[in-house]
Amino acid sequence: MATHVVVRSEREARFWASSRVFAMLATVALLGALVVWPGNALAVLWYGAIPLLPATFFLSPIPWRSVCPLATLNEWGNLIGRQRAPTAREVAWLTGLGLVLFHLMVPARRFLFNEHGLVLAVTVAAVGLLAVGLGVVYSVRSGFCNDLCPVLPVELLYGQAPVVRLRRGRCETCTTCTPRGCIDLSQGRAFTQVTGTGREWQWLTKPFGLFIAALPGFIIGYSTLPNGPIDQAFVVYGTTLGWSLASLVVVAGITIVGRVEARLVPIGIAATAGVLYYWFTGPVVARELAVAPVIGEVVRWIGMAVVASWLFVTLRARFGARSNPAEIG
Ligand code: SF4
Repeated sequence: MATHVVVRSEREARFWASSRVFAMLATVALLGALVVWPGNALAVLWYGAIPLLPATFFLSPIPWRSVCPLATLNEWGNLIGRQRAPTAREVAWLTGLGLVLFHLMVPARRFLFNEHGLVLAVTVAAVGLLAVGLGVVYSVRSGFCNDLCPVLPVELLYGQAPVVRLRRGRCETCTTCTPRGCIDLSQGRAFTQVTGTGREWQWLTKPFGLFIAALPGFIIGYSTLPNGPIDQAFVVYGTTLGWSLASLVVVAGITIVGRVEARLVPIGIAATAGVLYYWFTGPVVARELAVAPVIGEVVRWIGMAVVASWLFVTLRARFGARSNPAEIG
């Protein structure tokens, strides 16, 4: 089996190890707070922590993947028994299920997770157990982090051209548990490994291609809905699916009829999705954290500026004079 070793300084290894301990302790504290002080915990999670993630993915998905508590739980599963690589069929099922989970769980914020701390805590704990279970069965992080995780498609899309190239913080010795599509191993190349390198529109025929084409519409659909009771679930899913479908049709039209260069479309989708996300999220952050509206405008414009900078750097690297991303770490 091929191995890819990353050489880290002791200081770097210590940094990632202690960051993982901190992230795990913070998650345990969050689960407790979701039960005891649900209002505050939900506000800190949804409107303090989560809005940071998309911007960091554009810069590089490596930091989050290096400390994500669910990834740590997935690794801990490896401590039990012997693992094997998932078959191609299992990979297809797990990744497909991850895409479905995204479309089920994110809209469920509107009628469940945004306002019910206990339900969210139980769900996060259940997903954590699932991550451990998949770590018991499948090698390293192939079953959860690189297949099932519902956040993975967003990491792949926004991380297709990381501005900052970082050495991975996990898997000092990579055993290629996931030969194609592991961001930690392949960085931005993981995106084309998943979509294929076919020119023109073939990527749109793959489940991941459909997912990313639908994402800008999904964000509009989700963001224009209010929170509500559980009997609004059909309206919520109808809205997010309707907007996702509309987005799919627009992207397919631009790609196939407009004959836009294939490598340009996913870049445009990522930038559009990122800008839409921060456009809608900034004011919501200010409202839900009960801070001055100007703070929401700052979040909105800083988020969009990060996306715009990513777009500029990416287009310059792909279509202009080639420049290597900064290497740090
Ligand atoms: S998770 Fe990625 S970096 Fe780690 S062993 Fe598997 S392929 Fe290698």
